[in-house]
Amino acid sequence: MPEGPEIWRAAERIARALGSGPLVEVAFTLERLQHAEAMLLGATVVSVRPRGKALLTSFSTGHTLYTHNQLYGVWRVGKAGAVEKPTTRTLRVALQTSTGTARLFSATDVELWPTAEVHTHPFLARLGPDVLDPEVDEEVVLRRLEVFPKRRSRLGGLLLDQGFFCGVGNYLRAEILWSAGLHPARTLATLTDDDRRALTEALLSIPRASLRYRYARGPQRFTFAVFSRAGAPCPRCGDAVARIEDSGRRLYLCQTCQADPAVRSDGGARATVDKAGSTRRKRGPAPPTTAS
Ligand SMILES: [Zn+2]
Repeated sequence: MPEGPEIWRAAERIARALGSGPLVEVAFTLERLQHAEAMLLGATVVSVRPRGKALLTSFSTGHTLYTHNQLYGVWRVGKAGAVEKPTTRTLRVALQTSTGTARLFSATDVELWPTAEVHTHPFLARLGPDVLDPEVDEEVVLRRLEVFPKRRSRLGGLLLDQGFFCGVGNYLRAEILWSAGLHPARTLATLTDDDRRALTEALLSIPRASLRYRYARGPQRFTFAVFSRAGAPCPRCGDAVARIEDSGRRLYLCQTCQADPAVRSDGGARATVDKAGSTRRKRGPAPPTTAS
């Protein structure tokens, strides 16, 4: 399943392929959309923007093509007139300018909306801010961490909730939590100001680094600190990266850098009472003692 950076890269490829001039070919294989072919012919593509895992291709006619690839959909982009690789996939949409072509195969969620209304699409209306949207900044993210209503949900699950922030998937969740030094069992309700700042920074910087530098060469290249690195040393402290299951998906973390909230910060277990009845490692401040 692609995550935000992969979808933004696909959008950039489609925009580059179709951004050069009017459409000279428009084809929809879904019958309900075929009436729009003549209308879009000669129009230009003014933007290609992801919203979560959906892609919004807007035309100069004031219409926007909403597509969601689900599991099987795939865009193929190329030069106009290039020989196409044979495929068993079903063509859904074909758009071509004099220089470039973009074809969508196998997706079933394909709809044409007035651009001014597409934000009311039921899928889009449920999404939180997209962490890769250039307009989503520290203020937006920090505010959301302060007011989002699911205060007691584990961050491990919450980060996969596209209604919280969209664009974050399984590898980003692991990298974001590690970068912020937060255990997946932490909740919004337990975050300190410093935790919120660290999570804000990670939510903005990690997906953006992945988008720009995942395929870069040299030291700028974005590499995983913990994801898929079970047993390898944590880049921060050197302890072994652990793999756990969280919200039904594999999650990687450093148990030293990302302290489990069920374990006290002094390294001991929860406050317990031993068999003799005396309390060890009491929670909270120590009782006042008489000054000597
Ligand atoms: Zn570590």
